[in-house]
Amino acid sequence: MTGKNSYYSTNLKAPRASFREALLKGLAPDGGLYFPTVLPKLDREELASFSSMDYPQMAAIILSRLIGNEIEEKEVLKICEEIYTFRIPVERVYGRNYLMRLDQGPTASFKDFAALFMGRMMQHFLSLEDQHITILTATSGDTGSAVANAFYGLENIGVVILFPAGEVTDMQRKQMTTLHRNIRIIEIEGKFDDCQNLVKKAFMDPDLSELRLSSANSINIGRLLPQSIYYFWAWSRLSVKTDEQAVFSVPCGNFGNLAGGLIAREMGLPVKKFVIATNENNEVPQFLETGQYSTIKPSMNCISSAMNVGHPSNLARIIALYNGTMDEEGTITKTPDLSRMRKDFFSKSVSDQETMETIAQCYRQFRLLLEPHGAVAWNGLMAFLKHQPDYLREKFLCISLETAHPAKFGEEIKKVINILPDLPDSLIKMEGKKEEYISLGNNYEVFKSYLFNNY
Ligand SMILES: *Cc1c(COP(=O)(O)O)cnc(C)c1O
Repeated sequence: MTGKNSYYSTNLKAPRASFREALLKGLAPDGGLYFPTVLPKLDREELASFSSMDYPQMAAIILSRLIGNEIEEKEVLKICEEIYTFRIPVERVYGRNYLMRLDQGPTASFKDFAALFMGRMMQHFLSLEDQHITILTATSGDTGSAVANAFYGLENIGVVILFPAGEVTDMQRKQMTTLHRNIRIIEIEGKFDDCQNLVKKAFMDPDLSELRLSSANSINIGRLLPQSIYYFWAWSRLSVKTDEQAVFSVPCGNFGNLAGGLIAREMGLPVKKFVIATNENNEVPQFLETGQYSTIKPSMNCISSAMNVGHPSNLARIIALYNGTMDEEGTITKTPDLSRMRKDFFSKSVSDQETMETIAQCYRQFRLLLEPHGAVAWNGLMAFLKHQPDYLREKFLCISLETAHPAKFGEEIKKVINILPDLPDSLIKMEGKKEEYISLGNNYEVFKSYLFNNY
C-alpha cells in the first residue's frame, strides 16, 4: 500500500516535484536539494518482519514507501533483486560492537548501493517515455567508477566521465576504462576543478541542450534514498527486541551516508545516537560544538581521501531535518534546533595519526582489517563509548560502517601493519582487461566538439 509522495527543495523556493522530476533534474530550480515531503512511518510489526527478509525484499518495501505510487513495488523489487546481489556482512568485533562492511559491491565502495539504484530508476522512467539522456560527471576517483559501473549497459543512458590526469589511482582509472559500451572516459590535462569547470560549462551551454545532459552527482535524491536501507539491514540482523535502539557510527564527507541514516530513523528505525566521524575537515563537529558554521577552504588532504570535504553538500538536508535552512554557500538562514542535534549526535574529528593508530590497533587486538574511512568511524565509536558510564557501555548495540574495501587502500595499510590486503573478486576481474579512454587536453571547445561528434 503506497500512497503519493512529493519532493520539496531545501531552499523552499521551488515547486514540489514528483520523484521522477527530482531524479531527472538533480538540483531543484532554486538551487536547493530535493527531499521527501513525507517520511512514511513503518510500524513495529513491519520492523519486526524485516528480520526474516533478504536485502532486496526489505529495500523494495522501504524504497517504494519513500518514492510513492509513481512506480509499482513489484517493479522496485525486481530492480533491487538485480542490483543487490552482493553480501553485506555484519561482523562482531567484541561485545555488542559490530562492523558493517559496505564494500562488497562492483567497485568495492559503499557508493555502489546508491549509484546502482539511481541508474536503474533513471532507466525505468526514460524507457517509459522512450527518451535518451547523457550523464556528464567529473570525478576525482571513486564517484566516477561507481557511476560508470552502475550505468554500464543501460540502454537509454550514455555516460561521459572526466578525470584529471595523474590524480586518480591506476585501480580507479581501470574501474572506469575497462567497461566500454555506453561508458566513455576522458582524461583531462588538469586538476579535478578543471574537469568540474568543463562539466559546468557544458551544462550551461545552449548549443548542447539537444544532448539532454544530466548529472549523477551525490546531491541527486536517487542517490540518497538507497543509503537508508542498510541501517535497517544491520539492525534487523542484530537487535534482540523490536524496540532496541542502536548506535551507528558513520564516516562522513558530504554527509549523504548520514542523511540516509536519518531518513531511516525518521521512518521508525530505533536509533539511540549517530556518531558523526570526520577526518581533519572538522567543520561539522565545530558547528555542533560552537553553533557557528564555517566552511574549510581549501579542504584538508587526509588519508581518508573520500572525506576531504570542506563544505558537505548534504548538510542543507540535515539542517532541514532539524527545522533550519542553509543555502548552497553554507549560510544558515534559519537556525536549526541545535539542542536536539546535540542530543542525537556525538561527533569527533579524527586526525590522520589517530586513523593510522586505529588501523594498527584493530588489527593487533581483533585481527580486524580496516581501511582509513572505516577506521575514522571506528575511532569515533570508541570515543563515544569512552564518554558513557560503565554500566551502559556494555549494553549498547553499536554498528560502525566500513565504506570501502581495504584493498583499495593497500599501500596505506601496508605502511601501518605491513600487510597487503587481498583484492576482492570484483577488482581482480578488471585486471588484464583492455583499457579505453581518450585524452583531451584542457580546452572547452575541444571538449564540446567531442560531445557534438559522439552524441
Ligand atoms: C564517499 C565516501 C565517504 C563519505 O560519504 P558521504 O556520504 O560523502 O559522507 C566515506 N567513505 C568512502 C570510502 C567514500 O567513498
